[in-house]
Amino acid sequence: MAEKTHTIAVVGGGIAGLTLTLGLLHQKVPVTLYESASSFGEIGAGVAFGPNASRAMELIDPKIRQGFENRKTQNLWESKKSRWFDFRYGVGKKIGEGPEERVGELIVSLDTPPGRGTVHRAHFLDEMVALLPDGISRFGKRLVDLTDEGPEKGVVLRFADGTEARHIAVIGTDGIKSRTRELLLGEGHPAAKAFFSGKYAYRALIPMQKASELLGEELANNSQMYFGNHGHVLTFPIERGKTMNVVAFRSREKWENPEWVITVDKQTMQNDFKGWSQHVQNIIANVEKPNIWALFMHPPAPYYYKGRVCILGDAAHASTPHCGAGAGMAIEDSYVLSGLIGQETIDGDLEAAFKAYDAVRRERSQKLVVESKRQAEIYEFEVPEIGEDKESVAAIMRTRMSWIWDEDLPAEARLASELLQKFKAESGT
Ligand code: FAD
Repeated sequence: MAEKTHTIAVVGGGIAGLTLTLGLLHQKVPVTLYESASSFGEIGAGVAFGPNASRAMELIDPKIRQGFENRKTQNLWESKKSRWFDFRYGVGKKIGEGPEERVGELIVSLDTPPGRGTVHRAHFLDEMVALLPDGISRFGKRLVDLTDEGPEKGVVLRFADGTEARHIAVIGTDGIKSRTRELLLGEGHPAAKAFFSGKYAYRALIPMQKASELLGEELANNSQMYFGNHGHVLTFPIERGKTMNVVAFRSREKWENPEWVITVDKQTMQNDFKGWSQHVQNIIANVEKPNIWALFMHPPAPYYYKGRVCILGDAAHASTPHCGAGAGMAIEDSYVLSGLIGQETIDGDLEAAFKAYDAVRRERSQKLVVESKRQAEIYEFEVPEIGEDKESVAAIMRTRMSWIWDEDLPAEARLASELLQKFKAESGT
């Protein structure tokens, strides 16, 4: 028999699950967080948050923003503190041949409104975990199935260890391979699973001292992006300038390996960037134990909730990382949904709250999935009308990110509240 509880279940303890759980607690909503792993954990890599993401943290709970501020790194040069990236050519005019004069040349620099920063993922997670009260989290709980038994009885969750739990509602924050999404949309649904985006990435961390020797201080200490044909390489400082984070992207048509993260030898990585600029070669040559991450993305889900089951973060809209905003979108989701549930309380109309969240968040978060793919095509000279032309690339980059960074999040939350009242009136609750 499933344990009966009046709390909400959050399934998955990544950035989405933790920001949502902390948001619900801040709203005084009782919650239990189920995580499949034996403890919370993030990979050893950096993540960048735009101003929208840090504002969302503040709006959910100022303590989350404080945790980010405790750990955040900005570009190290005072003059480049608000710089998102300096975009540069990472290849000559024709890769491996022809004139090399434009290599390293600046295409355009893009600044962000205040609030941007980068952080080591595991350190940011630690800050959030420190805010969780005891008794909220359950580990080793991999969701395998659930049954929504309606508003009176709630939802029964079944876990891989054979245990069950009953909750008043379930929010799946279980990432790109989300089981909740599969169960919500139906296993055979064309949008149930992510598909390969055509891009893959190498990720690495290089000690800053080494990076400065290789690249010079300006390039090592401040975020840079090097564009090339069907590939690009980005670097930014993390850990208060102790480490340089590297992500190097390439393209391929198919991904047939069942594993999405594979280890390759150094030669494979070097071959992938043969003919690129000396800066890029230097970065690549210093990556120890390269791993390839296949980049998958979700087809648009036609809805983010049904009855008392809802999805949020990568479970709802996993994107490629080319706008650097997937986790930021998850934090925005958490702000809007925790606020709605907070208004409704546990005995209220949670379906109406999910419906309002879906109405306000689906279009924006799915736009990121589309625009992020497009962003890589711009970085990698794959858009015929833009190509490699400096002026055309600069012109498009100057405005491309504002819809993400300048979002009025309190206005979104107000709209969501109005919709909640409307949906409740319609359903007579
Ligand atoms: P996840 O981090 O995947 O967390 C899901 C959690 O659910 C995990 O803890 C997992 O163990 C657990 N889980 C899974 N299945 C189950 C189950 N069945 N039952 C219980 N628990 C389960 N975003 C940015 O904003 N800025 C960036 O700079 C950025 N860079 C990126 C670079 C790369 C190369 C990639 C691939 C992504 C990048 N992103 C970035 C996107 C960002 O990493 C994701 O959007 C974000 O981490 C998603 O968080 P999440 O909590 O939704 O999912």
